[in-house]
Amino acid sequence: MSDKLERVASLLENSRYAIAFTGAGISVESGIPPFRGENGIWNKYDPKVLDIDYFFQKPEVAWMAIKEIFYEFFGKAIPNEAHLFLANAERKGWIKSVVTQNIDNLHQLAGSKEVYEFHGNAQKLVCTQCHFHSAVSEQTFDVLPVLCPECHSLMKPDFVFFGEGIPQMAYDKSMEAARQTDLVIVVGALGEVMPAAMIPLEAKRNGATIVEINPEPTNFTKQITDIHISGKAGEVFKSLSGLMNI
Ligand code: NAD
Repeated sequence: MSDKLERVASLLENSRYAIAFTGAGISVESGIPPFRGENGIWNKYDPKVLDIDYFFQKPEVAWMAIKEIFYEFFGKAIPNEAHLFLANAERKGWIKSVVTQNIDNLHQLAGSKEVYEFHGNAQKLVCTQCHFHSAVSEQTFDVLPVLCPECHSLMKPDFVFFGEGIPQMAYDKSMEAARQTDLVIVVGALGEVMPAAMIPLEAKRNGATIVEINPEPTNFTKQITDIHISGKAGEVFKSLSGLMNI
């Protein structure tokens, strides 16, 4: 493993435009489980609570589950070594941006500035009618479903539900980064969620080197990965921090 870490350190220091592409796995050591897999959220909850049609049909039921999953559970999480490394690497100029599938706001909490949130962010709500935005506060969930303070229509978390499109600006910036980059560090992403999984694929098509940090092989591993570091994100980035002195 130390050989591979040294190669990754050298790639990062010498890259022209490195980016990170992160999925649910980067936040597992912060206490947020992925959706799928053995301890996944979908073992406890029905994924239909994030289906946009179901949300409109049964807003109260959907909101009760959403509150528990994303605000009581996710809300307590703090960034781990992996989020902190990426933020420090951006300050050093080694990472230009983070494209994330996550909605947990942990990259921003760690200090990353250039974050393209492919699936939105749970810390904001948006009105399904007048598109008024509000930040989540302690009082937000006193009465469910959450209604818009402006027009009293149904509000939803400002992240992408099943059946919704990707936010245009995040999509455009992520694709632009995928075309510019010469090095992608893929962290904790299985590569099953489309169109997000297009980002590392597009980068590879444009000649980028792909490094993967994940305890398991993924859909990317055989197809496009040049260096797979098999390990937990927090632990791998802690070693890399030691090696690179950041
Ligand atoms: P995913 O497709 O993002 O894959 C999860 C990956 O994480 C798997 O490959 C797994 O091997 C890997 N992993 C597990 N523990 C790890 C660790 N400690 N270090 C590194 N990698 C680790 O997962 P999904 O849950 O099916 O996600 C579906 C969608 O929902 C994605 O867009 C995802 O980002 C989003 N989601 C977001 C959050 C969050 O905001 N934290 C949580 C769950 C799901």
